[in-house]
Order: sequence, then C-alpha cells, then structure tokens
Amino acid sequence: MEHLKNLIRTIPDFPKPGIMFRDLTTLFLHPAGFKESVIAMAHEFRDAKVDMVAGIESRGFIVAAPIALELGVGFVPMRKAGKLPGEKLGVEYTLEYGTDRLEVHSNALRKGMRVLVVDDLIATGGTMRAACDLVEQTGAEVAGVACLVELTDLKGRELLQDYSCFRLIEFAGE
Ligand code: AMP
Repeated sequence: MEHLKNLIRTIPDFPKPGIMFRDLTTLFLHPAGFKESVIAMAHEFRDAKVDMVAGIESRGFIVAAPIALELGVGFVPMRKAGKLPGEKLGVEYTLEYGTDRLEVHSNALRKGMRVLVVDDLIATGGTMRAACDLVEQTGAEVAGVACLVELTDLKGRELLQDYSCFRLIEFAGE
C-alpha cells in the first residue's frame, strides 16, 4: 500500500501547532488510487454480510459512499448535530476540547441489520467509537469498522476492541 500512502499529503501544524494533518484530498485527486483504496476496503468486508454502510460526516462520506456501491448495499449518513431533517437518534462524544454529537435517521437502521461503519481516518478512535455506539442504539449490529488511514501511535484501536477493525494505511511515528 506504499504507493497509496505516497498519494497522501502531510501538512504539519494544521489545524494547530503540533498536529501532522494527513490530507487525503491528494489521494482523492488520483482516480486510480482512489478507486484502488475503495475496492480494497470493500473487499475486506465482502463476506461480512453487510446490509448497510454508515459514513461519518464529513470526510467519511467520501470513502463510505463508494464502498456501499461496491458492496451493493445502501449508504447511511451519520451527521453532525442539527443537519438531519427527519426523526433521529444521537450520541454525544468527547473531543480534545468540549463535546460533539453525531445523529442518524431513526428509520435508516434497525434490529437485525449489519452495519459497516466507515471514516476517512482513525486518530484517538473517539469518533468511530461514538458512531458504533449510535449504530447499536438503533438496535442494529456493527459488522465492522473501516478507515483509510489509522494513526497507530494514538491507539484508537483500544476503544474499538469489540469490533473487527480494518485500516488500509497506517501512519506511525512519522
Ligand atoms: P478521532 O475521533 O480522534 O479518531 O478523530 C477522527 C476524526 O478526526 C476523523 O474524522 C479525521 O478526519 C479527523 N482527524 C483527526 N486527526 C487527524 C489528522 N492528524 N489528520 C487528518 N484528519 C484527522
């Protein structure tokens, strides 16, 4: 996956000093690299009996929607607070400073469904864990979680031990 990793741009000190921002927009600019990433991620869950792919706003949508199409299942947006028009369920989660909230339409997921939860990147794992909690709140089951990039130094996987967790590309100590 080194050729895909090389398509990701790192911008130091964005959005604040000390953060190495892994900018996936440079990979998305590259049609062959973008397609290969999506197909590899979908392939991993081909036999996982996935009924629905849930993508986390906003960069998660870019990766989750084509994975859903590749698996031949529907796509469910997990949105930030106040964006969804219909009846919804929500979960609050802690950020470095303050809290955030993810919401999903309550009629989109239900008991008996197996959901693959997708984001662009796992750092501390807090966002992905909140998304999994929200899936479970609907009565559906998490079939797995997938990200294009995992920042392994931050040990986000420890929050995701209950789930089968796939990352395409890892950044560690770079
Ligand atoms: P976390 O909840 O800490 O796992 O953060 C995951 C979310 O924050 C993802 O949706 C990413 O888009 C974003 N994110 C966190 N750290 C970075 C980083 N170093 N580079 C790019 N995106 C990041």
